[in-house]
Amino acid sequence: MKRKLLLWDIDGTLVRTQGAGQRALSQALKIIFNIDSDLEFLDMAGRTDPYIFQEMFRALGITRTEQNFHDLLEAYFSCLPVEMAKAGGYTPPGILQILEVVRQRTDLAQGLLTGNLERGAKIKLVHFDLWRFFEFGAYGSDSSIRNELGPYALQRASKVHGVEFDRRNVFVIGDTPHDVACGKAIGARTIAVATGGATYEELLASEPTAALKDLGDTQAFLRIIDA
Ligand SMILES: [Mg+2]
Repeated sequence: MKRKLLLWDIDGTLVRTQGAGQRALSQALKIIFNIDSDLEFLDMAGRTDPYIFQEMFRALGITRTEQNFHDLLEAYFSCLPVEMAKAGGYTPPGILQILEVVRQRTDLAQGLLTGNLERGAKIKLVHFDLWRFFEFGAYGSDSSIRNELGPYALQRASKVHGVEFDRRNVFVIGDTPHDVACGKAIGARTIAVATGGATYEELLASEPTAALKDLGDTQAFLRIIDA
């Protein structure tokens, strides 16, 4: 029976896209609004996509209508696979091994807990052949506020696996203090990994259950889960 639940962040944790999302968004901006910006002013790490779009609209003086959001999103989703295909992206050390081990363990379940919109999450993970590991997730499409995403993930985990997970048996794994806060918001344990948007020291300061420089040591990771 599934007893423990792992909830994975995407960018900086499962994959490094080397700025593909930012470049796709920048191109979408040019296509739809004829605005040139590299979007370097945006603080994207650990934020949800809807939050990033809102901040961008505000900063660039674009009217926040539903039509504008819709048009920008469509352009973003069509640019994203092209940017993903450009060289440079990779999965950090150990990710594939851990996802495979977790899949094979009968006591462990895993899902996504990401600020990406579901369509964007799928594009990014399909590119690295990681989408197949996940039956459910909570996404930026559920809420623009990252701390509100946890309950969606728990709800879907219960539905898929037919069990209520004890919050102390839930692990939120991510690369920024925002992921740690999001895990704490649902009373979960948190594993912070310094392969993305924050340094090891910044992660430690956010007081996760555990902080790791990367996930290259599968056994070290499993010891935290099994403790
Ligand atoms: Mg991240």
